[in-house]
Amino acid sequence: MECLDTLQRESTLSELENGHFDLIIIGGGITGAGVLREAALRGLKCALLEADDFACGTSSKSTKLIHGGLRYLAMGHIHVVREGARERKRVHQLAPHLAEPKWLMVPARNQLEAWKYQIGVTLYEHLGLVDPEHLHFNLSGQALHDFEPTLNIDNFPKACVYREYLTDDARLVLANIRAGVELGGVAVNQLKVVGLVREGNKIVGVKSRCGLTGRELVTRCQGVINAAGPWVEQICALDDTPMPKNMVLSKGVHVAVAREKLPLRHMVFTVAEDGRPVFAIPRGESVYIGTTDSTYPGVNIWPEVLPAEVQYLFRPIEKYFGVKLDFDDCFTSWAGLRPLISQAGKSTKEISRKDEVWVAPSGLVTVAGGKLTGYRKMAEDTVSRFCSHFNIETRPLTDDQQNRPLPGGDFAGDLASLACSLMSKFSITGVQSERMARLYGSEAIEILNLDASLLGAGGELIAGEVDWAVGKEAACSIEDIFYRRARLAIDCPNQVENQQLINAIASRMSEKLGWDATKQQLELDRIHQRLSLDLAFSA
Ligand code: FAD
Repeated sequence: MECLDTLQRESTLSELENGHFDLIIIGGGITGAGVLREAALRGLKCALLEADDFACGTSSKSTKLIHGGLRYLAMGHIHVVREGARERKRVHQLAPHLAEPKWLMVPARNQLEAWKYQIGVTLYEHLGLVDPEHLHFNLSGQALHDFEPTLNIDNFPKACVYREYLTDDARLVLANIRAGVELGGVAVNQLKVVGLVREGNKIVGVKSRCGLTGRELVTRCQGVINAAGPWVEQICALDDTPMPKNMVLSKGVHVAVAREKLPLRHMVFTVAEDGRPVFAIPRGESVYIGTTDSTYPGVNIWPEVLPAEVQYLFRPIEKYFGVKLDFDDCFTSWAGLRPLISQAGKSTKEISRKDEVWVAPSGLVTVAGGKLTGYRKMAEDTVSRFCSHFNIETRPLTDDQQNRPLPGGDFAGDLASLACSLMSKFSITGVQSERMARLYGSEAIEILNLDASLLGAGGELIAGEVDWAVGKEAACSIEDIFYRRARLAIDCPNQVENQQLINAIASRMSEKLGWDATKQQLELDRIHQRLSLDLAFSA
């Protein structure tokens, strides 16, 4: 049975209610998704429960880099850097469309600064065992101008250019969840864990509530992994166990502008007034700019983007590229919370991004900290810890299992050749084929075979994407498709105000899911409210 078919949702809930699982995972961000795949690979009977939509938390709000992080090198966090730099290759092997090698340019004000960056990058490449064709190079003068014409070379006459990997965070989560489900795991979104079921002082199950119908159910299991990211403390509170270490939430904001406003060819590392990196990342027709890093005191509320934070991001853009951006130039924004493990006397900017796993006396296993980049290794460690705590022997993984591509990741050659073959086979434009290849990898062919027509006048969404999102990726709302499946909200500046497209998605979903007029209107109201909230800072 295809468990991520939205139409099969009720039977999946019954499976959860009637089955007994080795492992239940709370949270469908990258941490939970990686754990589901790893546990399913090892043959555990596992289920993942996500309160809202998969990847709706921090895992769709990142800078989308699979990287070791040069900044952490300067801070002496060698372990994080080494692991990150090596993990990039692994993720690229599993899903080349979700970890694209890209040149990242670090402009320098003078030769001394350029040398400093070159030394750091050389060490980084050494730690990451970088292949010769991906080693850095240095630029100045005309060559620098030709490489990145938008850079203000009067202020930044030198640059070091090195390799980083660009991912699509939400789609990486979905790919891992689908991989776990293909291997026999169960995953459900819109199913919030509201209680832990105990026998004596041991947890033997979870109580959850369906966000669509209010149905409550109990699922029994041997053990639970708490992978709730910024909400891990709330899950520990359900267990009445204090966490051995405190969490601190660090807020990070991004905005996106149309590429015509900031016509970058490459990813650029700029430095803000407080010394923090602000990345400018071109993707498709969009450029992402971020991020901030400040302690966030809130508990339950998802943070809003503040005008001062957007202005902070604009300043380095003006300094490096001479482009003065305005609030009106942004077509979207997002704010995420990094779930960090507190370290006495350190600000959020200084805290190590290393992950940790704890086991409470009740058997609740909590995994916290970490980065998107290290999710695979983090999942391996978490599942190993879980198995050793519960004395579960799992089969050792063969090389084939470990290297099993993520859905869409089994194609030869690079993304550009995949995009070319899509263009010739389906008579779609270069922009459309590039977008389809990047989002779906080899599965783009199946989606285009479903229905390769474009939805809505002036729309950039392929009709088959809606069918795929509902049938294979558990999309329950227009927002799920617009934001996290098809990525229109962050990658397609021309689509955020395309009323005809939004209406067309609503009609197609209504047809598939049997929505009546009231439900369809509710969904339309929700997507409009969400889209306007993203730009509330500019009001
Ligand atoms: P989340 O993605 O937040 O997932 C937790 C999930 O748990 C949520 O979906 C939530 O709905 C669910 N949940 C909560 N309570 C319950 C419940 N009761 N029942 C069921 N489900 C529940 N890392 C990188 O490697 N590269 C980057 O470029 C990068 N950039 C970043 C930029 C910013 C601004 C931020 C904030 C972080 C960045 N990170 C980056 C870090 C990375 O994004 C996070 O470490 C990672 O996404 C955390 O994933 P998670 O699964 O732990 O948490």
